[in-house]
Amino acid sequence: MNLVEPSSHFVDVARGRLETGSGRYKKRLKDLAGLYADEAAYAAAVGRNSDLVVYEVTEQRPSADHGDLTFGVTSMRPGRVGDEFFMTRGHIHAPANRPETYYGEAGEGVLLLESPDGAVRLLEIRPRILCYVPPMWIHRSVNTGLEQLVMSFCYPSDSGQDYDVIARSGGMRSRIVADGSGWKEVPNVAYRTRTEEEKAAMLATTVA
Ligand code: MN
Repeated sequence: MNLVEPSSHFVDVARGRLETGSGRYKKRLKDLAGLYADEAAYAAAVGRNSDLVVYEVTEQRPSADHGDLTFGVTSMRPGRVGDEFFMTRGHIHAPANRPETYYGEAGEGVLLLESPDGAVRLLEIRPRILCYVPPMWIHRSVNTGLEQLVMSFCYPSDSGQDYDVIARSGGMRSRIVADGSGWKEVPNVAYRTRTEEEKAAMLATTVA
């Protein structure tokens, strides 16, 4: 029997990192073209500081084996493009029937979830709130606060990420925008309802 060594990991909330993670990536403003409704505001923001790190992920992926877990920390800067808050690119897992949990460590935000049929759910997250993203839901996190949004996450290691699922439908169905000192959900006018073929293709990725 090949046993993996057990491990413990410090969630560095102040730095927004899993201190001993094996993998790390950053998404900068210039990497996030096409996400925001206000393309002129996006171009202006990129012009000011294209290398601004919008979010950073540190994670530990012990293996990609079925039954194993990947876990880590996402840290996202506060800010907006036009009236739309900074957000992650968002994805559905591939296989799509893989869940995830997010646990609030610092700041406040919203998890924006969308089913293949276009049902939308919003989950507010803040410290000590644990959010469950069930199998088959597209998900994106949005920093609606004035501080860094830090969340730890955990998902099955055999989940890949399909980032193009959102672009194929013209974005997610809802956008999260500023409303006074708070936020509100507004419809994404560019959204295209998925065809039966597109939904079938999402279902076809599922495996036991
Ligand atoms: Mn995910």
